Amino acid sequence: MKLLFASAEIFPYAKTGGLADVAQALPAALAKQIEVLSVMPLYDFIDRKKFALRAMNESFQITVGKDIYDISLFEGVNRGVRTLFVYEALLCHCQTPYGNKNADTISNDLRFGIFSKTLLVLSQMFEIDVLHLNDWHTALAALWAKEMLPELPVVFTIHNLSFQGLFPRESIERLGLREHYFTPEGIEFWGGMNCMKAGIAYSDELTTVSPSYAKEILLPEFGCGLEGFLQVHSAKLHGILNGIDTVFFDPMIDPALPKNYGPGKYANKKRNKISFCKAEKLRDAERPLVVFIGRFTEQKGLDLILEVLPELLRLKLNFAILGEGSEAIADALKTLSKENDNFSIRFGYDESLSHRMYAAADFLLMPSRFEPCGLNQLISLRYGTIPIVTDVGGLHDTVGDIDDTDSTMCGQGLVLTELNSHTILRSLKRAVDLFSKTKRFSKISKANMRCEVSFDKSAKSYLKLYGKTV
Ligand code: ADP
Repeated sequence: MKLLFASAEIFPYAKTGGLADVAQALPAALAKQIEVLSVMPLYDFIDRKKFALRAMNESFQITVGKDIYDISLFEGVNRGVRTLFVYEALLCHCQTPYGNKNADTISNDLRFGIFSKTLLVLSQMFEIDVLHLNDWHTALAALWAKEMLPELPVVFTIHNLSFQGLFPRESIERLGLREHYFTPEGIEFWGGMNCMKAGIAYSDELTTVSPSYAKEILLPEFGCGLEGFLQVHSAKLHGILNGIDTVFFDPMIDPALPKNYGPGKYANKKRNKISFCKAEKLRDAERPLVVFIGRFTEQKGLDLILEVLPELLRLKLNFAILGEGSEAIADALKTLSKENDNFSIRFGYDESLSHRMYAAADFLLMPSRFEPCGLNQLISLRYGTIPIVTDVGGLHDTVGDIDDTDSTMCGQGLVLTELNSHTILRSLKRAVDLFSKTKRFSKISKANMRCEVSFDKSAKSYLKLYGKTV
């Protein structure tokens, strides 16, 4: 079987979130069993030399709407997986995958229309048996596949339903899509065009990244307006849990860490904390260290942390944040970090620093309002860091509560059954208390490091699904 796995971002070439991690790790796990080709756009910011990408001889033209676009192909190898790169000027001329930093508009409907159409040419060119599409950026390929390659099985994965690829009605004509798709059963959505709907409606199998999220998105609370549409297509919807790359995220060999460690070399974990606290000028490394790593968006609940942050910082702990997003949140955090010597904040995206933080921390705080799967908590388990999470989506499926009264200790983290700023504060008091029980704390931390968080099991589920479609 030959699979084409398409994503708008793949680590290490381009990453804005978990999609890139998954688009690297899942194909690598699948490639142990079947032939896999990955594909993504060759954005201008990708360093071709550094990643040893080479131009292929194949170049061709595609038509999208009334215009013709010149496509050239490049290739590289990522974790043993042959990876194709699509170059087209409009698609690739950008500073981040989805836009420019100065907020000037770029035509994402056309850009990802070009990428999606190209996927069908590639499917033919490379004699692909199954096309696996990921999120709205590739979703129109499911629709075009039905017209151009009706025999080609298409699997579509929803990584985050809150990003749907919404565009005005005019995009239908711009992309040369037939009018008959512009219905509520097709890709029409409140008078505009919704790319995600194309992936949902026209794929042969539909997946999302955890069993709980697969159930949640059928409800108004989590369905982002598509719950009714998803219910119609629910017979082909499957929840398959994400994993992580357990070689890249391995505290025993991670080159980003000041000191490597593992369950059998546990004392070294603390050396990472001491070194981080020193670098960040945090007081007293004997205190528990709590970290938050992620986007400053409503989804991740940082606004709720902010509501109780002054109180939280009065607890006997250190708190560190790494992330980017809402300016208002960033400004408030900056002010508080100046006033408190047990709080540090780093803005921006920094892969190496994030690894050092996972290693240094005792607890990872992740009070998400919704979480399709979440990778942070999986990485934190791998690094022996105890996650503090809400009971939603993939967090529900991967973190059980540590029962304070139970000596059998089957939980991995602290679970908030209700989410508000008070429950967050309460969970941190629980964390400080748990940390004071040194033996119990380190036993849980070591057990977390041994949790199965790889992609191996999920890859088997995907293989089964691909098998069903061919
Ligand atoms: P998202 O909803 O953002 O995709 P996930 O939990 O699925 O969230 O994945 C987030 C990934 O991005 C993890 O690998 C996490 O470590 C990483 N990450 C998030 N923010 C940053 C940052 N500011 N710097 C470095 N890595 C980050």
